Amino acid sequence: MASKSPVNRTAQPYEYRRRELVEPDWTRFPGWRTVSAQEWSSAQWQRSHCVKSAKQLHDVLGDLVPEEFYADLARDQQDHATMSMLLPPQMLNTMLTDVTTSSSIFTDPVRRYMLPVASDRLALWPSHPRASRDSLHEHDMWVAEGLTHRYPTKVLAELVSTCPQYCGHCTRMDLVGTSTPSVTKLKLAGKPVDRYAAMLDYLRAHPQIRDVVVSGGDVANVPWRQLESFLTHLLEIESIRDIRLATKALMGLPQHWLQPDVLEGMHRVAVRARRQGVSLAVHTHVNSVNSLTPAVAAAAKALLEAGVRDVRNQGVLLRGVNDSPGQLLDLSFALLDEAMITPYYLYMCDMIPASEHWRLPLSRAQELQHAIMGYLPGFATPRIVCDVPFVGKRWVHQAESYDPVRGISTWTKNYRTSIETSDDPGAGDYVYYDPIDTLPTAGQRWWGDQIESGRAS
Ligand code: SF4
Repeated sequence: MASKSPVNRTAQPYEYRRRELVEPDWTRFPGWRTVSAQEWSSAQWQRSHCVKSAKQLHDVLGDLVPEEFYADLARDQQDHATMSMLLPPQMLNTMLTDVTTSSSIFTDPVRRYMLPVASDRLALWPSHPRASRDSLHEHDMWVAEGLTHRYPTKVLAELVSTCPQYCGHCTRMDLVGTSTPSVTKLKLAGKPVDRYAAMLDYLRAHPQIRDVVVSGGDVANVPWRQLESFLTHLLEIESIRDIRLATKALMGLPQHWLQPDVLEGMHRVAVRARRQGVSLAVHTHVNSVNSLTPAVAAAAKALLEAGVRDVRNQGVLLRGVNDSPGQLLDLSFALLDEAMITPYYLYMCDMIPASEHWRLPLSRAQELQHAIMGYLPGFATPRIVCDVPFVGKRWVHQAESYDPVRGISTWTKNYRTSIETSDDPGAGDYVYYDPIDTLPTAGQRWWGDQIESGRAS
């Protein structure tokens, strides 16, 4: 009788392996050869040594990267960038962790989205014809300056329009950061004290709102006293049951969240929240496993010890950064196992100008969601969502219809936002568009015809 050939029952598409986090040695960069551990751990030192130009980057990296890279970067800042350059040393230090060739900088996943260069952008379709500056129409849904009321029970409070770091793909490129040669930013007109008072008045007058995302920008740029005062007022409103603080700085500038006075303040707020049965959580934004270091894990754990109920990650799905199942699972396991951060959402990149080289088609997002199922605990399996203009977050498998040739998906919703007058929340289809360069030839030709006949925008 023929014997059965042995079957390898352990081989899986993804092999889980626990990896210890490592803080890359910053003294490998010529400009930081003499920087001490004490300086590095200071939030003040980190803020005052942020890299803001190609020249400053040159001063740090020197000839570790080719000259053509600096020229490429300067060209992007001048001609294309929607966000100005602002990179804390902590974040720059998570690039080039494995310098094997002089061109590694071009393919580095953190560099790809934090330091975009002109040669990254697509020559033929750099922007989708339906892209827009405030692609989620958050500004249209402001009920007080900076307060977006989109969902029935939740609001987004933008306390500040700056961050300690600027991401190339920022969805709030309309408002966040300083102006670039290509984009003149909107400005928040009111004084913070008046704006915060107007937000709180709206929340007091609308008890159906139970959940406030306190964001920006990044709450790490709100002076702690002001932030604590705002949170304390929020906790005085009985209808508020969930408060979520949005800060990418937990990863980009963990030194901020490790400052004793900030942790003491967070403890005061967390104790009060817990006493009242209110969930206080921190949401951060990590896109690549390379960004997770012991300092980031220490900051997340310190916030949990201060009494925050959960620290969760909301990453963005980006081409060339985290667009494979292995990259997403490596990131998710590192967040969960090494930093006690819950992988929560992965957003499809929004349809802002000059972002096509980062965006992925819906079909790829659906494949990725399928590929990462079953490895992580259910509560920590990130949901890949499309933030559909005028609708909100929808799981990528919830599209009502999808034409993968033209890259057009339609979506519906079951509630009204603050700007709709129709009584029927489902009235009308809401649309998301795939990046055109990823479409088959017939789809690209169709979009070319639309543009030529003036029907594309
Ligand atoms: S941290 Fe968030 S708000 Fe700030 S630039 Fe990055 S994506 Fe935009």
